[in-house]
Amino acid sequence: AGWSAPGAGAILEISLGAIAANFGLLNARTGTATCAAVVKADAYGLGADRVAPVLEQAGAKVFFVAHLEEGIRLRAHISPTCRIFVLHGPMPGTEGEFSAHDLLPVLNSLEQMAGWRAHAVAVGTPLPAAIQVDTGMSRFGLSEADVALVSGNPALLDGIDTRLVMSHLACADTPANPANAMQRDRLRAMAARLPDADLALSASSGIFLGPDYHFDLVRPGAALYGLAPNADMPNPLHPTVRLCARIVQVRTIAAGDAVGYGLTWRASGPRRIATLGIGYADGFLRHGADGGGCAWLGDYRLPILGRISMDSTTVDVSDVPETMLDAATHVDMIGPRRSVDDVAHSAGTIGYEVLTALGSRFHRAYL
Ligand code: PLP
Repeated sequence: AGWSAPGAGAILEISLGAIAANFGLLNARTGTATCAAVVKADAYGLGADRVAPVLEQAGAKVFFVAHLEEGIRLRAHISPTCRIFVLHGPMPGTEGEFSAHDLLPVLNSLEQMAGWRAHAVAVGTPLPAAIQVDTGMSRFGLSEADVALVSGNPALLDGIDTRLVMSHLACADTPANPANAMQRDRLRAMAARLPDADLALSASSGIFLGPDYHFDLVRPGAALYGLAPNADMPNPLHPTVRLCARIVQVRTIAAGDAVGYGLTWRASGPRRIATLGIGYADGFLRHGADGGGCAWLGDYRLPILGRISMDSTTVDVSDVPETMLDAATHVDMIGPRRSVDDVAHSAGTIGYEVLTALGSRFHRAYL
């Protein structure tokens, strides 16, 4: 027994105002250090074309992306005076593209340095870049041995106008972890052997480790988009997204009836259930049903029942007054009562993955 409604797509509301406010909050917290903005992966899925200009208006002058293509696209959406660093640096042969689009590479290896140096020689002028050093994460950047080699052979730096020496923290979301101080001290020691330049270590969580971790520039991404810096403190940032699903169908089931693929959930008594028009193809992770996953309708908590399907999710609406259950009703999958971090917790992942997974099928509304 129930009804169905057309036009069942979910709506992703993105608050540009909240993103700007988060930038302001982080910028204030980091004092004289430059607060850059990380907008890689399409601004963590929220739309870099819309997000970056708002961040610039809020005061951001330095941006970070991961790939050359992201940098080229971003260049068209912010002022020419803004700096764009490309974290993965130049793949061989792409150096000219960096200069053509006024992008600064992060040089992560001796090979990338050699490529940039050769490009500078070819164009006949020193070219600005960042140098990344590996202080412990073993992911990107010059090793201790590489730094020793460079400091003993200054010619390796010819043509490289070093604007920033940077590294990245592996454990900043666990403030008590001794790896944080170790990486901080290593950055200082490694930078002392490289050309004098601004230093940068911290992303979102690192900012909350305190001023000792701010150096000259910080690179927050997640915190701009409202994710919690760590689990030890209340989240001081503004939520930036709300994800509303439509009710497609409502029905009553009897004791013993099962729900969804694999019939993994079975009713112990009569229940009223609603099928929502959102699923894992929208980026609403299948494991979002695990670990107490739920949606909210106003103050009513709606447990997710059984498995999430490709295009639909079933929730228990037994406690909700019938008058609230029609096709116009929007159910919050993410909203005031359930944060991105909460969804991530149910799904056994991190807020970053939930945000960047949110699909392109949604209607997007920028507020
Ligand atoms: N800097 C670097 C080098 C990164 O790889 C990232 C993200 O992965 C960031 C900054 C931004 O990190 P967060 O989103 O935790 O602020």
